[in-house]
Amino acid sequence: MTTTLLWLRRDLRRHDHPALAAAAAAGGVLPVHVLDPHELAGAGPGRLAWLAATLRATAESFGGRLCVRLGDPAEVLAALAHEVGATAVQVTTETAPDGRARDDRVAEALAETGVGWLATGSPYAVTPGRVRNLAGRGYRVFTPFERAWRARGWPDPAGPAVDPGPLHGPALRPWIQPEASAILESWLTSCPIRLPAAGEAAALRAWREFRDERLDSYAEERDRADLRSTSRLSPYLALGVLHPRTLLADLAGRRDPGAAKFVSELAWREFYADVLWHHPDSLASDLVPALAGMAFDEPGSRYDAWRAGRTGYPLVDAGMRQLLAEGWLPNRVRMVVASFLLKDLHLPWRLGARHFREHLIDYDVASNTHNWQWVAGTGTDAAPYHRVFNPVTQAAAADRDGGYVRRHIPELAHLPGPAALRPWDHPAGHLHGYPARILDHATERAEALTRYRLAVGR
Ligand SMILES: Cc1cc2nc3c(=O)[nH]c(=O)nc-3n(C[C@H](O)[C@H](O)[C@H](O)COP(=O)(O)OP(=O)(O)OC[C@H]3O[C@@H](n4cnc5c(N)ncnc54)[C@H](O)[C@@H]3O)c2cc1C
Repeated sequence: MTTTLLWLRRDLRRHDHPALAAAAAAGGVLPVHVLDPHELAGAGPGRLAWLAATLRATAESFGGRLCVRLGDPAEVLAALAHEVGATAVQVTTETAPDGRARDDRVAEALAETGVGWLATGSPYAVTPGRVRNLAGRGYRVFTPFERAWRARGWPDPAGPAVDPGPLHGPALRPWIQPEASAILESWLTSCPIRLPAAGEAAALRAWREFRDERLDSYAEERDRADLRSTSRLSPYLALGVLHPRTLLADLAGRRDPGAAKFVSELAWREFYADVLWHHPDSLASDLVPALAGMAFDEPGSRYDAWRAGRTGYPLVDAGMRQLLAEGWLPNRVRMVVASFLLKDLHLPWRLGARHFREHLIDYDVASNTHNWQWVAGTGTDAAPYHRVFNPVTQAAAADRDGGYVRRHIPELAHLPGPAALRPWDHPAGHLHGYPARILDHATERAEALTRYRLAVGR
């Protein structure tokens, strides 16, 4: 009887899990997660706590049989395979550049010790790199990608939760190595944010609740920050607690606007993963180099005000404070705060992407990088640089009655209705310490456009 190590990364679940099913079909399975200090660099305490909570829930769902170890995955997995007599390591294929490079290195190191490497599936409905145009190349524009992605289709879910089966060889006690356990505990006890309920059962509940209660109005209301209008599934999708295939299968045959829009949003996630797969350099450099000559400012006190949610623009500040308090913020607000950093503060997108990487519990390297590049006008699609989000008019649309702003900014909680969106117009607007605007949006917009024209030579 063989034992396979199932190395879980962005697939922390038991149902609809092709890699788990493949490993279980071959014999005994030992699920393992490796806390890799190199990979976790850049993650803030909220994101680490979300990982710890998810690992705890995953361990419970495996009846406690999730081995967690700390260290370099190549060394940890080789040692563990030797300890339990495992002949192979099974993974869900990683598609982002750093993960691919790490996997190549680990597979090579394992091969030297005689341990096999098996990769199945991916965290996407369609594995990045597979949707191609007639010339055999990847897409750089969303609409044709989505069309081709839908036409290609995706496999059915891989089935219900798989039992890892009896483990042969020596029992591992404790399953979670004491140093790893102490780290997970410290992440949980020092968690500075309010986390959603962790684990697969909670994720499936969140999905069903959204599908049954909010999907019908999703197409019209998804940009409303004041309503709980979107699914909030991104933290689960980021760690693979849910697979998008499960959601797509559940919506099969639905043609209503809510379901169609939701599928499109999942397609954006797949699109950005695909773009990053084809263009790994776009992680650090502009996908479209046309703005390479852009003049940026140095990050200073204005950047600090943006990070702390103290710019004096209520929608920007509410979003940045929600990010610090919950590790999540709505998509429309992400666009507004990103535009503010890029076009009001004249700072490079990498700086904003790094701040998001630290705080977002749904951090996803492809979605984060390419959404930032989209707003910056350096990425996919024709998102023109001169499209500058106005933080005041955006607030009037996304937070009609000011409820979102009041919820996240206590200094504005006393202002009635939409007055919270324009505190400068209200006699009591700044009575409780809410800061004055750090800049004039119209002036900075004009400045951004001037810099843009200089950069592109017009
Ligand atoms: C500057 C910026 C940075 C972002 N960084 C991330 C990130 O690190 N991780 C992340 O998951 N999303 C990121 N997004 C995309 C989007 O904001 C979130 O996916 C969405 O807000 C998550 O909330 P939800 O699950 O309620 O979304 P829903 O509206 O319910 O959408 C369902 C799912 O579709 C996908 N999706 C929706 N919109 C997008 C989008 N624009 N791009 C890619 N996928 C999308 C997500 O997986 C989401 O969970 C970013 C957007 C911007 C503008």
